[in-house]
Amino acid sequence: MSQAHQARLMDGTGLARRIVEEASRRAAEVTRRTGTAPCLATVLVGEDPASVTYVRMKRNRCRKAGIESRQVSLPATTTTAELVDTLTALSADPSVHGILLQHPVGPRIDERAAFEAIAPEKDVDGVTLSSYAAMSFGLPGFLSCTPGGIMRLLDEYDVDLAGRRAVVVGRSAILGKPVGMLLLGRDATVTYCHSRTKDLPSLLREADVVVAAVGRPELIRGEDIKPGAVVVDAGYNPGNVGDVHFDSAVTRAGLITPVPGGVGPMTIATLLEQTVTGAERQLGL
Ligand code: NAP
Repeated sequence: MSQAHQARLMDGTGLARRIVEEASRRAAEVTRRTGTAPCLATVLVGEDPASVTYVRMKRNRCRKAGIESRQVSLPATTTTAELVDTLTALSADPSVHGILLQHPVGPRIDERAAFEAIAPEKDVDGVTLSSYAAMSFGLPGFLSCTPGGIMRLLDEYDVDLAGRRAVVVGRSAILGKPVGMLLLGRDATVTYCHSRTKDLPSLLREADVVVAAVGRPELIRGEDIKPGAVVVDAGYNPGNVGDVHFDSAVTRAGLITPVPGGVGPMTIATLLEQTVTGAERQLGL
């Protein structure tokens, strides 16, 4: 009896652990040489339970890696001007090396105005226009963390991107758009798909690389995956379910990320690594 094909899994947990170990080693070196530990300021507006959990998780990971974290919690009634003032003050504070504004910040706030109050040299979450432009032009700067983590995962598994057809499903400012620009920067031929895309399955069937960044549980089915394709599932929906129907996609893909344990851990690892890089640069190392 022939055994069904099973794609190789891309182990984000293992790679993220190695990245964090190295970031931790560098953080200790920063502390030893300057007497100052790298510091990430996390800014949270309101008490959305998912956001509270994400921030707590990021702060725990910082602590374990020898990175200080400073929590700024603001009430849900905070105005755009107040949030901008807070972020401007953190941008000017020499004891803070990285700033993370947990988003979404809620409908009352102009999120773009808030992001733009983060100094680019402290934008370790890669959310400012300056970071996006630098990333799109292949210039030095901080990467948007999830897209940066996805590229590291692809590199770890030696995925050759030049000339390959990549389909990115989703075009959000933090995920879909930047990951498409990074793939383009590596000479992939990139197609962006979104809620107005017609006949998504026919575009997926042509893709050598699929990045799912939608937020719709199991939208992408195995039958639409080209045999041998690389499938990266950034989706994280309630119940630990991705945007790809894993059980059917794993029988078609060549490489696939699990959910959880694929893209998720890479996001935090990229954040920690970029925070240490920010500290090294700002402290003149
Ligand atoms: P988002 O801002 O809601 O964007 C979703 C995108 O998907 C939009 O561009 C939307 O198109 C598109 N879309 C919606 N329905 C579609 C459909 N039926 N067909 C094709 N495209 C469709 O979400 P996001 O913040 O990018 O997050 C996407 C997913 O990634 C979520 O599951 C989120 O939890 C996960 N995520 C994971 C991490 C991590 O660290 N692992 C980090 C960030 C996000 P329009 O632009 O036309 O509306």
